[in-house]
Amino acid sequence: MMALLFISKSDDPRAWTQALKALLPDLEVRIWPDVGDPNDIEVALVWKPPPGVLSRFPNLKLIASLGMGVDHILSDPELPPGVPIARLVDEDIITQMGEYASLAALYFHRRLDDYERLQGQRRWQPLPPPDTVGCTVGIMGLGAIGSHTANRLKALGFAVAGWSRTPKSLPGVECLHGTEGLGPFLTRSRILVCLLPLTPQTEGIINARTLALLPSGAYIVNCARGDHVVDEDLIAALDSGHIAGAMLDVFRCEPLPADHPFWGHPRVHITPHIAGLTRPEAAVLQVVENIRRVRAGEPIRNRVNPGHGY
Ligand code: NDP
Repeated sequence: MMALLFISKSDDPRAWTQALKALLPDLEVRIWPDVGDPNDIEVALVWKPPPGVLSRFPNLKLIASLGMGVDHILSDPELPPGVPIARLVDEDIITQMGEYASLAALYFHRRLDDYERLQGQRRWQPLPPPDTVGCTVGIMGLGAIGSHTANRLKALGFAVAGWSRTPKSLPGVECLHGTEGLGPFLTRSRILVCLLPLTPQTEGIINARTLALLPSGAYIVNCARGDHVVDEDLIAALDSGHIAGAMLDVFRCEPLPADHPFWGHPRVHITPHIAGLTRPEAAVLQVVENIRRVRAGEPIRNRVNPGHGY
């Protein structure tokens, strides 16, 4: 019997069971920790599975992520070797992420943070007009989300630069890559948007050294993973005025602890990891397609390369 095990503290098991059953009525869905016989589990649908759990199922044939990033799976030191991992590549989430990055870029570019401060002082004070074509938004990561977001921002009239691991070519986007491309990419980026996966290479990539390379008065938008940012370095750069503002959706510790300095910082804007939310009714289609492929012995879609870490 093929059973699917659902493991997540933040996704709704009922909505997912309903969505799966609507398409695969014969699929048995079990909700962690009610595993039943571990031999039955052939598919694990997961968000932040507790380390070590996925190695307990001898017949596991597919690990499917409930989100687009897979750092929450690859961080498990006891991951069963050889079991394919599929990530979501979901148009719905990609659209939401593009909206979030565009909103953040426009918010800072049109100085809404400054106008909110002026409103607090009941001051009517127009600031100089914006120069949109002269404002470069730098996008770290030109994957499914980054390339979509680059096109969105270009359509809004911004100059757009992008940075990836391997060379990329996107029409109308200045594409840089690799370690040697990072410096030139950062020096151009008035608004830096992080859309990288979290890997050992990208952990802490927004730090004192990289922040210093951004133009004075630059803005940071992080809607990738909290561990991309060295919190103390960002706070120091904000306090010095070198970085004028930050819009943060993700944090090293989530929920962000009540005593974290980000909460009360006048230049930090916080959202609770909502930039791109998975809607079961949209995302279920690719989970079901991969289950079909596993059953048919075909290669799965959107297979993660654990060697790359994303
Ligand atoms: P992809 O895997 O499609 O793309 C990743 C991009 O990052 C690629 O362009 C890749 O380069 C680049 N990259 C990876 N490692 C490096 C490196 N060491 N140096 C430079 N560039 C690098 O990812 P997605 O676009 O699907 O998603 C990106 C991330 O967004 C996810 O991993 C997740 O963490 C986050 N996310 C956050 C959400 C939220 O709600 N806040 C929702 C959804 C996703 P190359 O093209 O050369 O491979």
